[in-house]
Amino acid sequence: MTEQRTKILVTGGAGYIGSHAVVELYQAGFQPIIADDFSNSQQSALAGVREILGVETPFYELDVADEAALRRVFEAEKDLQGVIHFAASKAVGESVAKPLHYYRNNLGSLLSLLTVMGSFQVNNLVFSSSCTVYGVPDALPVTEATPTKKANSPYGNTKQICEDILTDVVHAPGGTLRTILLRYFNPIGAHESAKIGELPLGVPQNLVPFVTQTAAGIREQLTIYGDTYDTPDGTNIRDYIHVVDLAKGHVVAVQRLLAGESDNVETFNLGTGRGNSVLEVVQTFEKASGQKLNYRIGEPRPGDVPAIYADVTKATEVLGFTTETSLEDSLASAWKWQQALGK
Ligand code: NAD
Repeated sequence: MTEQRTKILVTGGAGYIGSHAVVELYQAGFQPIIADDFSNSQQSALAGVREILGVETPFYELDVADEAALRRVFEAEKDLQGVIHFAASKAVGESVAKPLHYYRNNLGSLLSLLTVMGSFQVNNLVFSSSCTVYGVPDALPVTEATPTKKANSPYGNTKQICEDILTDVVHAPGGTLRTILLRYFNPIGAHESAKIGELPLGVPQNLVPFVTQTAAGIREQLTIYGDTYDTPDGTNIRDYIHVVDLAKGHVVAVQRLLAGESDNVETFNLGTGRGNSVLEVVQTFEKASGQKLNYRIGEPRPGDVPAIYADVTKATEVLGFTTETSLEDSLASAWKWQQALGK
């Protein structure tokens, strides 16, 4: 008898977090189905997933905002039970330069997805949101009840608007959608196999790929943006969560939705609950990799939040979510991935 796995559509499943979620979903007994347009990823991610799992994952190359193309996926994969929606453009700086692209892609893909899910009565959705919705918080750590602030970039605004759209759709009379909004803190690292990981196209926007590329000699020097913030060592503080821990958070969120245990719309912070400064990341990376890092202190970047980290009590108590990977092990996995990539 062929194995009957519950099918979950993973939009953006060729991307950094999506590819790790595909692996964890499959290993938890689900059948992930990937939809991606490779606007910020490469075919090699699918090859990596295949090597880890030893099976081919069904894949559709399409723009999720293309409703007709998405409809064909739902027709072909008749009995989809849920969707994890990763597909979005995600670079804060680029979103300031190209706001229309960000609004079109991030809102357009969600609107198209919700329309098609509605017509096929697929009612369970996990949405990739971000701690960026909290802006500069008044108190730390941030809980899900911490008020959101006006977004400081078009990217951040798309996440807030998407959360609002989802809440409105869930609460519409006769609405059948149930959704879990996952607010990620800072995902880092790579799968222990070093077959999938973060694949920045061009100059990395995030700290850790810049660190690993500098150590590998691809970038000459890392710039730390400011050391005069109101933090113990003056550099920014973030909550760095290993990408596999984050991916597992999606599995438990899907399980909760499918078990009918969730309220109609629920929000969870996914982080470690710990804050680490940029300097701590640099020092921990040096320890984990045995590499000396060439860095300098530069000017603070406008719009950077001085410090943010998560209170993860709700995710722990309601989802049973925990993180297992230390900062040092996370950075070691990022370095292993960088070495596998070469130059
Ligand atoms: P990523 O760019 O690696 O993955 C996104 C994937 O979606 C890519 O493979 C891209 O090709 C695809 N995609 C984009 N638009 C698409 C479209 N219209 N149709 C089909 N495919 C499309 O990014 P990631 O880091 O894996 O992030 C995944 C999600 O998590 C995004 O929604 C992002 O905003 C959110 N998020 C990421 C972070 C982070 O630091 N990485 C933090 C908070 C939230």
